[in-house]
Amino acid sequence: MNKIDLHTHQLKSDSSVQILNTFAQDLPVPESEFYYSAGLHPWHINQVNPEECLNSIELSMRQKNILAVGECGLDRIVNTDFAMQQHYFKMQTAIAEKHSKPVIIHCVRAYPELIKLKNETKSSVPWIIHGFQGNQQTAQQLIRNNFYFSVGESLLLNRQKSHILALLPTDRLFLETDDRETSINEIYTLAAQILEIDNEVLSGIILENFEGLFKA
Ligand SMILES: [Zn+2]
Repeated sequence: MNKIDLHTHQLKSDSSVQILNTFAQDLPVPESEFYYSAGLHPWHINQVNPEECLNSIELSMRQKNILAVGECGLDRIVNTDFAMQQHYFKMQTAIAEKHSKPVIIHCVRAYPELIKLKNETKSSVPWIIHGFQGNQQTAQQLIRNNFYFSVGESLLLNRQKSHILALLPTDRLFLETDDRETSINEIYTLAAQILEIDNEVLSGIILENFEGLFKA
């Protein structure tokens, strides 16, 4: 069964269905059989023309093979002014809302603000936390607020935290390779072991989640 890689930074030459992350400053991407997401990353706000980036994202939304807005989000560790990060993140969630596409979110130490923004904007599109590696309390808060999760090796290989995977609702779960070398097959194998379910069953669940969320 085809495995979904929700978020990757380089196209892998396996049979998986991948959403290739594209930074807004690298748009446009070709209309092709490949899927993309497009977003202004909080790390880049100071290095690019953010208004131009918003325009490019907005323009890209008419492309059918651009499945989501992102990665975009909030990062407490990076130097960029936090109010500015919130502003550009909000603008991108508005674009996602307008075009009915999910948002793929980068969030570092800013979960309370993220949850607050989701409730304030009353967004109706799915908000997917990519590279999720929060603790149990964070996971529960995000679940209560209807977030989706995409998990990669940063959680799965973390001995203290890998059990958190089992707390996430399987109907709101995705897996990803992100910017790592690990193959998506290895990620599914790890996740299936932690969840104690069959790899093919897990592939089926995530494929169903993908088809439910993305109008590919
Ligand atoms: Zn990434």
